[in-house]
Amino acid sequence: MTSTRVTSVTSVNSPRAADRPRGRRAARLALGTLLAAATAVVALPAAPAQAAPAKVVYLTFDDGPSPRYTPQVLALLAQYGARATFFEIGQNVAAYPEVTSRVHDQGHSVQNHSWSHPDLRTLSKSSFDSQVTSTDARIRARTGTTPSCLRPPYGAVNSAVRSGAARLGKTVQLWSVDPQDWARPGRAAIERRVLDRVTPGAVVLMHDGGGDRSQTVAALPAILRTLKSRGYTFALLPCR
Ligand SMILES: [Zn+2]
Repeated sequence: MTSTRVTSVTSVNSPRAADRPRGRRAARLALGTLLAAATAVVALPAAPAQAAPAKVVYLTFDDGPSPRYTPQVLALLAQYGARATFFEIGQNVAAYPEVTSRVHDQGHSVQNHSWSHPDLRTLSKSSFDSQVTSTDARIRARTGTTPSCLRPPYGAVNSAVRSGAARLGKTVQLWSVDPQDWARPGRAAIERRVLDRVTPGAVVLMHDGGGDRSQTVAALPAILRTLKSRGYTFALLPCR
């Protein structure tokens, strides 16, 4: 198919084509050939040889645990049979360890979002390590496992953060759908932004901690219900 397409485009510039009078007719011919080529390109992804991607979505919640909002998120996830990955802040785990236990006990994944939410790019090596390992220790004490995924606060990543994470045995995990729920744009906006942007394999960033998350909680039922009706399943990120 590729060679056919290239040949037909090339023929526009062949000696015979060049002999034709220049002008609208030649332009129309060239345009028609290009459109045919473009159509062929567009048709390629629909080829039956390509398997459809699994309809999986990864919901993630940052900045918890929160004694107020995390239990509400957990109740809604349970209602819809959904699992999610929680990137928790170490000092919040220290303050509300029983909430972290509940997240884990209900089948969700608890991962590392640093101790106090700094921009990890700005830290010395020892401060970076302390931010990560002190959070690991608090999470491990409640879940029995050491997180294998690190989500740097603000998504702020550079080569030092990546190599530091790797040195500590961590995979950096960002996201692909950000409804900016932290800015509290309203329940409807959070719903719309998530539902408009989710495609198979999407990693959705939302927040269960770090402030008033009532809008996120209010948006969750429609997000869960609608994605489920579209055939999505809610999976854990491939972290330990
Ligand atoms: Zn955060």
